Amino acid sequence: MKCAICGKKLHVGLTTIITLKDGVLCKKCAQQINLISSGLLHGVAEVKAASTVTVVEATDYFNNHKIFTFDQDRKQAKVEKKQQQVLEEQQRAEGADKYDQLLSEFKEDKAWHVGKVYFDDKKQQVLVKKSTAEHLFNEPTLTFSYSDLENYDVIEDPATIEKKHGVGRSIVGGLVAGPTGAVLGAFSGNKSYDAVSKVAMVLYFKGNYHIEATFLSNATSTSSSTYAAVQRSVMQVSRDLDKIIAANNPVEPAKPGNAHSSADDLRELKKLLDDGILTEEEFAAKKKQILGI
Ligand SMILES: [Zn+2]
Repeated sequence: MKCAICGKKLHVGLTTIITLKDGVLCKKCAQQINLISSGLLHGVAEVKAASTVTVVEATDYFNNHKIFTFDQDRKQAKVEKKQQQVLEEQQRAEGADKYDQLLSEFKEDKAWHVGKVYFDDKKQQVLVKKSTAEHLFNEPTLTFSYSDLENYDVIEDPATIEKKHGVGRSIVGGLVAGPTGAVLGAFSGNKSYDAVSKVAMVLYFKGNYHIEATFLSNATSTSSSTYAAVQRSVMQVSRDLDKIIAANNPVEPAKPGNAHSSADDLRELKKLLDDGILTEEEFAAKKKQILGI
């Protein structure tokens, strides 16, 4: 085995051999082109970087007194990673501060909440802790406007629970949606399972955002009072959300004295006049009434 640059014979185990993609170098030549550092030891990262270099490339670098910058690139990457971490930490801290500040404002407004999702009827806003929100876009969104609420779903996950008394039997009877399936809108249907592991509401906002508000997140029997209370809460929240969504989608009010039907009425009336059924006076009076003049 020979160094691809200087031709020095290399003996495995006696000399440090730097393995390239398609050949080997002696340590001296490898250091000359900065493929490995000048220290006694070279690290895994250096060995890995060297293994991507071809003999032709290494020779070119050597002949033209160029040096590889893998080590600098690695240092730079480390520095950038550290900076990124610091930045993210800052953003997290700022986000947490902002959330705490907003939360106290929401609480002052007597905002109601489902789990960690707060609804402020005064601000007309929903406050969401970042960890609670699933965003398509990586924005540190903390609040959503009521006016952006488009829809919601109720999710109920069937569960198996063990009975406190007795043989610790798992309740698996009559699962409705397979082993993993969440049951959408379960509350409107008949429940054919004995326990739930989760009851939540997914709120859909404009811009493809959705957040999950959790009512219940531990295995609960569907015949328990806890479950009954959750059911009542879901109903109440559904009604509130329905109101918000309805307000966001106003139905065009029917215009009083609809122009089309007024015109039709007048034509009918004129026909009655022409047929001699109505007198001129009766026609005039009725006409005034229809046109509201
Ligand atoms: Zn050499």
